[in-house]
Amino acid sequence: MVGVTLDKVTKRFGRVIAVDRVSLDIAEGEFFFLLGPSGCGKTTLLRMIAGFYDPEGGRILFGGRDVTDVPPNKRNTGMVFQNYALWPHMTVRKNVEYGLSMRGVTRSEMDTRVNRTLDMVQMSPYADRSPNQLSGGQQQRVALARALVIEPDVVLMDEPLSNLDARLRLEMRQHILDLQREIGTTMIYVTHDQKEALAMSHRMAVMDSGHVVQVGTARELYQNPQSRFLADFIGEINFIAGTVSELGDFVVVDTGLGPVKGRVSGGNVQRGDSVVCAIRPEGLTFVEGEPKATENTVSGQVRHVVYLGEVEQYVIDLVDGTPLKVIEYDPINPKAARGDEVRLAFSPSKVVVLPADRDSHAETV
Ligand code: ATP
Repeated sequence: MVGVTLDKVTKRFGRVIAVDRVSLDIAEGEFFFLLGPSGCGKTTLLRMIAGFYDPEGGRILFGGRDVTDVPPNKRNTGMVFQNYALWPHMTVRKNVEYGLSMRGVTRSEMDTRVNRTLDMVQMSPYADRSPNQLSGGQQQRVALARALVIEPDVVLMDEPLSNLDARLRLEMRQHILDLQREIGTTMIYVTHDQKEALAMSHRMAVMDSGHVVQVGTARELYQNPQSRFLADFIGEINFIAGTVSELGDFVVVDTGLGPVKGRVSGGNVQRGDSVVCAIRPEGLTFVEGEPKATENTVSGQVRHVVYLGEVEQYVIDLVDGTPLKVIEYDPINPKAARGDEVRLAFSPSKVVVLPADRDSHAETV
C-alpha cells in the first residue's frame, strides 16, 4: 500500500489536451475518486497512473518512488475495468490465478491466496464456472478478485459499476466499500456518477476539460463549491445572478430580485464583480408569516409541484423569470399549489457567492 503523487501530469492526443498539468496527492490507504463529465480526462489520467499511457510532461510517484517510466506490469497495480475484461476461456479460478502465475508464485501459495480472495468477494462457490455462466455483478466480483489477489500497492478502477443495473450497483458499492475498509489498499476510482463519488470516496478530484477543478471530501465539495461548474456538477443547485455591492462577513449581491446576502467559499470577490448566488433547493423554505430580518427572501409563482413520497419538489418562477428549485423533506401536506404566489426565505449561510464565469476554475499549478 502506497500513496500516489501526480506532479503536473499532462497528456495530449494530437491537438486535444486530455489532461493538463494535473497535480494531486493521494494518501496511503485512501479511497480517492476522479469524477467529471464525459471527456474531462479522468480515464486518460487513470491510464497514466496504470502506465498504459506515457505522459508528455510531469511525474507520477508511488510512495515517493518515481514510476513515470516504469512499465505497467512493474507498478504493482490491480486494475478493474467497466467491461470486466475476464478471460472467457478460463474458469473463475484460472482468471484469478493468472496474475499470480505470471509472478511465479508457488502452487500452494497460489491456492491459499486465490481461495482467500474468492472468499473475500463471495465467489468461492462459482470458482469452476466460466465467466459467461455468471451475472454482470458476479463477473465484476471476479474482476475485483483478480485485481486484489496480487496484493497490489494501488487498485485502479475505471467505471466498474456502469454496466450493472441500479439495484446491483448499490449492492456492489457497499461490497467495494467493505473490501476497501478491510484491506485498506489505496484505491483510485474513475466515475462520472456523482452519487457514487459522494457515497464512496474519502476524497475526490472533480475534473473538467483536462483540469482538476477542486479536490476535497464529499461534504467540502457539496457545501463549499469554489466555482460555478463545481456547484452545478455536484447535486442540484439554483443560481441567481447579480453584482457585488458590499463586502463583509457576508457579501451583499444586488440582483434583479433585490439584495441577496451570502458567503464566499474560497478565492476573492471584489465590489462590482459579476457573480452568481448559489443556493441548494433544500436551503430554501416557504415563508409562512414574517421571515426573520436576517434572512434573504424572494417571491414568485409556483410552476410545478411533484410529490415523491419522502420529498416534494417545487419549481417557482421568480418575478424576474428565474426558475427556482425548492425541496421539502417529509412532506405531510403540500406547502403550495401550482399557480400560487409564494415567498421563500433562505439564510445567508446557505448562499455561496461564486464568480459568474462558468469556466473559472481553481487552476492546478
Ligand atoms: P468518459 O467518461 O467518456 O470515458 P473521460 O473523462 O474518461 O470520458 P477521456 O477518455 O480521458 O475522458 O478523454 C479525454 C479527452 O481525450 C477527450 O476529448 C477524448 O476525446 C480524448 N481522447 C481520449 N483518448 C484518446 C485517444 N486514444 N486518441 C485521441 N483522443 C483521445
